[in-house]
Amino acid sequence: MDFESIDFLIVGCGFLGSVLAERLANDLNQRVLIIDKRNHIGGNCYSEIEPITGIEYHKYGTHIFHTSNQKVWQYINKFTDFNSYFHQVLTTYHDKVYQMPINLETINSFYGINLKPYEVDGFLAKEISKEINIDKNNFEGKAISLIGRQLYEAFIKGYTLKQWQKEPSELPASLLSRLPFRKNYNESYYFSRWQGIPLNGYKNIFEKLLKSPKIQVKLNLDYFDIRHLIHQNTKIVYSGALDKFFDYKFGPLEWRSLKFDLEIKNVMDFQGTSVMNYAAHDIPFTRIHEPKHLHPEREFNEKNTLIVKEYPLIDSKMEPFYPVNDEKNQKIVLQYKELAILDPDLYIAGRLGDYKYLDMHETIDSALNIYENIKNKYYEK
Ligand code: UDP
Repeated sequence: MDFESIDFLIVGCGFLGSVLAERLANDLNQRVLIIDKRNHIGGNCYSEIEPITGIEYHKYGTHIFHTSNQKVWQYINKFTDFNSYFHQVLTTYHDKVYQMPINLETINSFYGINLKPYEVDGFLAKEISKEINIDKNNFEGKAISLIGRQLYEAFIKGYTLKQWQKEPSELPASLLSRLPFRKNYNESYYFSRWQGIPLNGYKNIFEKLLKSPKIQVKLNLDYFDIRHLIHQNTKIVYSGALDKFFDYKFGPLEWRSLKFDLEIKNVMDFQGTSVMNYAAHDIPFTRIHEPKHLHPEREFNEKNTLIVKEYPLIDSKMEPFYPVNDEKNQKIVLQYKELAILDPDLYIAGRLGDYKYLDMHETIDSALNIYENIKNKYYEK
C-alpha cells in the first residue's frame, strides 16, 4: 500500500472517522485512507440482514438515531431518510412488564396505586425521607434521591450491577442523566426533537459517506500493524481506544464490553417491542432486542422472528464498548489527552478516543467540529 500518497489516515470506520473522511474528501479534496481492523464499515453502528429471517439487525446492539442538534440532523439527512420509529423501552421485573423510563405508569403499577401527576412529588418525598445520609455525588445516591429506594432497587440497581459489574455507589452520578424519569405518562425514551431508524439501515449510510474516489477504505487492517509505515507528514485521525494508542503508557483505562447471542424464534412476534430490559440481577442478560420492531414500515414473514440477547462482558481481549467514567479513569484520561495535544497533526476522538459515553449524534457533532478546526487550521489561511 502506498502510504505516501495520502493526506489523512483515519483509523476506525465508525461515525467519527466516516464523517471526517466524507468532509475532508468532498469539501477539501483531500486524499483519505480510512482503515478498520474489523471486516466491515460502520463501527458499532453497523447493521446487516440475518439471512434466515431476512430481518435487519444492529450487530452491536439497537441503535436509535435521535438528536435535537439541527446541524447534525441536516447533515445526516443528506445520506439517509428515517422511518417514523419512536423509541419506547419496557423492563421486566419479577415476571411483570413495566414502562421504562420510570414514569407514572411504572410507579402506579409497581406500588399498586393510582397517583395523579401532581401527587407524585409528595409520594416520592415520603419514600426519600426514609433515607439518611444520601450522597448525591454517586450514581446510587443520586438515583435514590430522585425516586426512593424501592424503585431504585427494582429497576436500577440490578441492571446497573450487571451492566457495569461495579457497585452503583462507585459509579458517577452523571450516568443517571442518560436515564430519563417522568412524573407523567410520557413513554418516550428520548427528549430529542428528531428520532428514527435509517430507512435503508446503517450500513447504507456508511457506504454513502465513504463513496468518494478520494477515499480509500481498507478493512481487516489493524493500525498497530502498520503505524511504523505511516509517513510523518500524514495527519492522523484516530477513533480507537485512547490508552492503546499510547501503548498504555499511563496505565490501562477501564472499559466494558458486550456479547450478543442471536436466536431465531418460530413465532411472529416474541416480545411485542424492540428492546425489553431485564432488571433483576439474577437474569444474566441485560436486555433482549427484537429488531423486527425497528422497521414498522417493512413487511416481514409471519413464521419467525429474530431476537438478540445482550450480555455485559469484562474481558481484556474483547472490543471496548463503554468507558467507565469515574474519577480514577478520568485522571488517567487527562494524562493521555495532555500527551495527544502535543502532536498538532493528531486528532483523537469518538467514544473510544475521547473516553466519553457519546451517542451517535454527539459523535457526528464532534466530527463536524473537528472538521471545522482542521479546515481553519490548514486550509483557510
Ligand atoms: N439503567 C438501569 N435500568 C434500565 C436501563 C438503564 O438501571 O432499565 C441504567 C444503567 O446503569 C445503564 C444506564 O442507566 O448503564 C444508561 O442506560 P442506557 O439505556 O442509556 O444505556 P445504553 O443504551 O447506552 O447501553
